[in-house]
Amino acid sequence: MKSNPIRTCVACKETAEKATLFKLVEREGKYVLDEKHKMDGRSIYICKSPLCVKKISKNKKYNIDTELLLLLMNKIKIARKEPIKALKSIINSGKVTFGIKLVQEQVARNKASLLVLAEDISKKNEEKIKFGIKDKKIPIVKFSTKEELGELFGKDEVTVIAILNKKIAGGFFKALGR
Ligand SMILES: [Zn+2]
Repeated sequence: MKSNPIRTCVACKETAEKATLFKLVEREGKYVLDEKHKMDGRSIYICKSPLCVKKISKNKKYNIDTELLLLLMNKIKIARKEPIKALKSIINSGKVTFGIKLVQEQVARNKASLLVLAEDISKKNEEKIKFGIKDKKIPIVKFSTKEELGELFGKDEVTVIAILNKKIAGGFFKALGR
């Protein structure tokens, strides 16, 4: 996990490492995807999340056409395949726990190497989790939805997952493309 410049998503206003976000650059009055983060010009950053991409496409302030919207949604879909696969094998390894209470227990015991939060986690729950790790250097990533994460564990919804092994956590980062 090398350090990276931080940018703010224009949709959810959360900050994240630049490399993990979509960069859109204005070209002749509309936005285009700057895949390699190399283009000059006025730019915005968006989470690689359907929630944020949809939100921004509805905002008249940003001229996101259907073509770009579909391109971004498709990229997200493809990008999720590997991490979902990785999560499945992490679950099989047993080096993982889920749910706020169990995750907080593992955090308190310094056993959590990485927390994975559903993108649609409530603000209240997110603050609760962040408060619990404020004195610890545990990385957090947002990935997928409560429903999709729940499916992996055979539950209706899962809001947070803790990966309990540093090496496995690193492998998950890699699967996320980070
Ligand atoms: Zn966002």
